[in-house]
Amino acid sequence: MFIEPRVGNRHNASRRGWIEVVCGSMFSGKTEELIRRLTRARIARQRVEIFKPSLDTRYHTEDVVSHNAARIRSTPVAVASEILLLAAGSDVVGIDEGQFFDSSLVDVCQQLANSGIRVIVAGLDMDYLGRPFGPMPDLLATAEYVTKVHAVCVCCGEIATYSYRVVANESQVMLGETDSYEARCRPCFLEGIQAKAPAPETHSTATH
Ligand SMILES: [Zn+2]
Repeated sequence: MFIEPRVGNRHNASRRGWIEVVCGSMFSGKTEELIRRLTRARIARQRVEIFKPSLDTRYHTEDVVSHNAARIRSTPVAVASEILLLAAGSDVVGIDEGQFFDSSLVDVCQQLANSGIRVIVAGLDMDYLGRPFGPMPDLLATAEYVTKVHAVCVCCGEIATYSYRVVANESQVMLGETDSYEARCRPCFLEGIQAKAPAPETHSTATH
């Protein structure tokens, strides 16, 4: 479990900000972990703001909703730069579904942290093909604290790090039902990818 290094500096003249990233596959509990950290800050009467990309409208447009239905009010934003304007006066800024923002999210998080704000970003580290997703790799490189949470492989019960897409759709961003995905470990993910690949052409070696 992640233990915050320091969370209260309201009485400290030199405010210090930093960046935390919570990443992992689908069904790994990223959003639950984000909500856990934000809720505890809010209980301590810190000013907390939560943002998410407006394209993620799977559930309710103004809630960051995790799959276990723990929910917390959030503000949908179209572009990362909006967060800079809306986060003024916050102690803690949470950002969910970070992978859906463009690369400017990295600079936005840096500016927030430089101005003394604790920034917590949750997001998918890899897309459905196992490729680093959106601004997440750059955020992982620039964050002070990184937590990679894991799911459980639906095929074998091992620790899962991949989001395997069970339906045929080749767009990187596919919003919709979570039942279009399965959490899978590396071998089970590879097995699924290979099973989906078109069969290699068979060339006859016989001479006619
Ligand atoms: Zn497995």
